[in-house]
Amino acid sequence: NAAPLGHSVIPIVNKLQDIFARLGSSSTIELPQVAVVGSQSSGKSSVLEALVGRDFLPRGSDICTRRPLVLQLLQTKRKPDGAAGADEEYGEFLHLPGKRFYNFNDIRREIQAETDKEAGGNKGVSDKQIRLKIFSPNVLDITLVDLPGITKVPVGDQPSDIEARIRTMIMSYIKLPSCLILAVTPANADLANSDALQIAGNADPDGYRTIGVITKLDIMDRGTDARNFLLGKVIPLRLGYIGVVNRSQEDIMFNRTIKDALVAEEKFFRSRPVYSDIADRCGVPQLAKKLNQILVQHIKTLLPGLKSRISAALVSTAKEHATFGEIIESKAGQSALLLNILAKYSEAFSSLIEGKNEEMSTA
Ligand code: GDP
Ligand code: MG
Repeated sequence: NAAPLGHSVIPIVNKLQDIFARLGSSSTIELPQVAVVGSQSSGKSSVLEALVGRDFLPRGSDICTRRPLVLQLLQTKRKPDGAAGADEEYGEFLHLPGKRFYNFNDIRREIQAETDKEAGGNKGVSDKQIRLKIFSPNVLDITLVDLPGITKVPVGDQPSDIEARIRTMIMSYIKLPSCLILAVTPANADLANSDALQIAGNADPDGYRTIGVITKLDIMDRGTDARNFLLGKVIPLRLGYIGVVNRSQEDIMFNRTIKDALVAEEKFFRSRPVYSDIADRCGVPQLAKKLNQILVQHIKTLLPGLKSRISAALVSTAKEHATFGEIIESKAGQSALLLNILAKYSEAFSSLIEGKNEEMSTA
């Protein structure tokens, strides 16, 4: 499928949102933001794209991400089965209201043009956000943030304090307690020197919201592997590590698709015996699964609050109901509605508690 992120979470969120819609209020299921951090060219944009399942971010061996990109995924209604045409997916930028981008290559070009406009054409960096919404029936309502990477030596038009500026920019996003941090480190660098783990450690010292992502497993030095990294033996991380293989620069030049890249990644891990007993730590689908589990956990912690909101809404509906009690027909209708709501709620609740969502997770 096109969108690995969210498959196990979407049905639960939808169910809860249905309940709120029936109560006549909008949902308040706020999911955490997910931000990627790491040094330049570590593979941050590549990881985000793979999670979304679409090609639309500027990627490359040079500095590409030069402004924070706040990417809001918004779920649209799926067409009924058998309806003509495919489900539409499109993007819309805050700075171009009303203009729908159906071609994801155009989205990439617009990000590049808008980056140049604000940060100049010569490697400049700006902390002014680009805000992009992606509308699709295949996504979960969640916000992802692509950030410029940490660099040490100013190049082009960059000021001499470029490193400090970028660090401050990154911290302003990842210090928020509701932000999940994907700390991206390439496998061909020393984990102990990881900018990603260092800055994530500053923002989240207890490691409750940091997932380690090791990229470029395919281009490690001969005779080495990332096993000890992934097992947390080099730098332990509470939520652990996932190793991935994204597209290389050559793959990008030859327009290799995300789908092909996922197939190649799977083949890579299958053909390397060192990774065979830690398959749950290997690959983009496992990263999506881990994120999904964290999101489900997050929703579980919201449930008591949601439950009391529903109860309060039921009480007020019942009061109204008493006021208009003499209208028998609507009384019956109201009761049916309330029963329906309760039934739906407990269904969603119990499937969460029993972890039935596991079955729906990505393969
Ligand atoms: P960012 O600067 O951290 O956002 O990194 P990008 O996603 O732009 O990737 C930087 C470069 O590394 C690009 O040329 C990618 O093709 C390449 N790259 C990223 N991940 C991998 C990987 O897992 N394997 C290989 N071989 N190349 C990768
Ligand atoms: Mg990038």
